Amino acid sequence: MTRVPKANWAGSFHYGFRDCLYPSSVEAVREVVMRAPKIKTVGSSHSFNAIADGEVALSLADVPIDPVIEGDGRQVSVGGHCTYGELALFLHGHGLAVHNLASLPHISIAGAIATATHGSGDRNGNLATAVSGLEIVSGDGRLVKVTRGDADFAGILVHLGALGVVTRVTLDVQPEFQVAQCVYEGLAWDKLLANLDEIMALGYSVSVFTQWGQQAGSIWVKRTASAEDWPADIHGATRAMVNRHPISELDAQNSTDQLGQYGRWSDRLPHFKMGFTPSNGEEIQSEFHLPRKHGAAAIEALLSIRDKFAHLVQAGELRTVAADELWLSPQYHRDTLSFHFTWVRDQEAVNAAVGHIEQALSPFAALPHWGKVFTERNIGAKYEKLAEFVRLRDRMDPERRFSNPWLEDVVFGSN
Ligand SMILES: Cc1cc2nc3c(=O)[nH]c(=O)nc-3n(C[C@H](O)[C@H](O)[C@H](O)COP(=O)(O)OP(=O)(O)OC[C@H]3O[C@@H](n4cnc5c(N)ncnc54)[C@H](O)[C@@H]3O)c2cc1C
Repeated sequence: MTRVPKANWAGSFHYGFRDCLYPSSVEAVREVVMRAPKIKTVGSSHSFNAIADGEVALSLADVPIDPVIEGDGRQVSVGGHCTYGELALFLHGHGLAVHNLASLPHISIAGAIATATHGSGDRNGNLATAVSGLEIVSGDGRLVKVTRGDADFAGILVHLGALGVVTRVTLDVQPEFQVAQCVYEGLAWDKLLANLDEIMALGYSVSVFTQWGQQAGSIWVKRTASAEDWPADIHGATRAMVNRHPISELDAQNSTDQLGQYGRWSDRLPHFKMGFTPSNGEEIQSEFHLPRKHGAAAIEALLSIRDKFAHLVQAGELRTVAADELWLSPQYHRDTLSFHFTWVRDQEAVNAAVGHIEQALSPFAALPHWGKVFTERNIGAKYEKLAEFVRLRDRMDPERRFSNPWLEDVVFGSN
């Protein structure tokens, strides 16, 4: 029986697919692409907007992921639809790790890099920055192989699903490392504003969780094994003595272990455990990235309009992401502070709130996360490298097989 994806993971966006194709080899993917006038690859369906929508879906679920260690143990190659959780399991067997993970390990690698998915950490680039090679079936059915250093490599990684079907990715790996995390609660807004850079630099990966209430919220610090001891408080925020969930009212059993206990990188860097359903699914997400230097002013701008959005927030999160060279990355040539919002699942109310947030953040050169909810259109025009990306798409998908209305409205505009 054909399994046509009906909705995204959160159930907040319903796809318009009338069919879904499940080729079981790369050769079969090429044949599907050559026959289909329009095709949209679906990864793990975690995006919150129409980026992955279309008429006919293609899933790589039946293609073996075949992980292979390469480059004298410095790289791993794997099927594009492999999730980070599956990858982590394989890497454990070889004592290896990737540099960072998103808040949950359930997302596919090809889908994550498509939207510049990221974790946190002043020195950690988004997940696409770890990619050193890619195999992609382009619009004419060719299997294109690119590696770091090739022309257009920096354009092809954050691909938005617009360039082809990513069948295989090669990622940089490093020796496995240990991480411990502690949560510090009761952070005041004035302390966060006065010490923002210091707080975000407290560990290998740091998140500030906030519900945009009277207090800023909690600091989640993730440190590698070489780091020093945990203080009892940080700028007045005190160390939690029990595990916490990022949405403060929810049970912490799905959260990765805290309390300063060291564990594998992959059991600490995400907020949610692999074996559990992350958060409660009843949500919508948005996220806006802006240059670090505007961080405190942007927080103040949002505080000044919080009556327009705070009642819809289940959890807000501030993270940092390091600058990169990737054409359609929101971190292109800029270290960013990222403002994430997990909303209640009320699309209409969320759209209105997001409109206010976009307006408040517009003086700060904010760019939305490609896979989450935003209301502005023609975002591509804000990217310095859009013209190069348009030319790359012209070469890789001249007949626009991989296009959909979202891509044309949001990314390409009149280009
Ligand atoms: C609970 C939850 C937590 C999240 N946490 C984070 C986080 O911590 N950080 C963050 O940055 N984002 C986060 N996200 C957003 C998520 O990482 C992105 O939306 C990501 O793109 C989802 O990947 P996916 O495989 O589900 O892609 P999909 O939503 O299925 O697709 C996204 C895009 O990728 C394309 N695509 C997918 N697979 C392929 C392929 N093999 N070849 C070509 N194109 C492909 C699709 O066509 C589409 O354009 C979260 C989302 C959820 C639901």
